[in-house]
Amino acid sequence: IFYLKTLHDEKLTILVGDSGVGKTSLLVQFDQGKFIPGSFSATVGIGFTTMHVFVFQIWDTAGQERFRSVTHAYYRDAHALLLLYDITSKSSFDNIRAWLTEIHEYAQSDVVIMLLGNKADMNSDRTIRREEGERLAREYSVPFMETSAKTGVNVELAFTAVAKELKSRA
Ligand code: GDP
Ligand code: MG
Repeated sequence: IFYLKTLHDEKLTILVGDSGVGKTSLLVQFDQGKFIPGSFSATVGIGFTTMHVFVFQIWDTAGQERFRSVTHAYYRDAHALLLLYDITSKSSFDNIRAWLTEIHEYAQSDVVIMLLGNKADMNSDRTIRREEGERLAREYSVPFMETSAKTGVNVELAFTAVAKELKSRA
């Protein structure tokens, strides 16, 4: 999980999803416009000018149930949640329902949520069809996009959409 914050309006956006879906990579792509292969585990500070967003804490909690009570506290403060799965990982997609259950239990009821199917560049290894992502998003009434932290496709669009939605609700 990542914690981002927009400096000007104090909006907290959290990237959520199973470990390995590409949360860190997505942010690095958004910030630096490039893909750095390999998993990230350390805290990465990211600053960028357009939206004045930076990461102030990174925490990948997937499978670490003992940390859950802590992440619940962060949900409460979140204004937006980017919920990621990996289009080549059925388990990461199946776990989206569990993440959403948790979000609905602990996050503010007006939190901005967007579902992202990441690693869209890995079409030959795809196990989740785009339509399945769309259907799940419709079921929960949240917007949906497929992204690639590698090629950058839809990355800026996703963050911009969330920022716009936050702005419209401010
Ligand atoms: P996190 O645990 O959710 O933060 O995932 P990471 O950002 O650490 O990424 C996990 C692995 O997936 C790394 O090896 C990344 O290089 C790779 N990865 C992340 N996003 C993409 C993507 O969009 N396309 C491809 N091909 N690989 C990706
Ligand atoms: Mg990470």
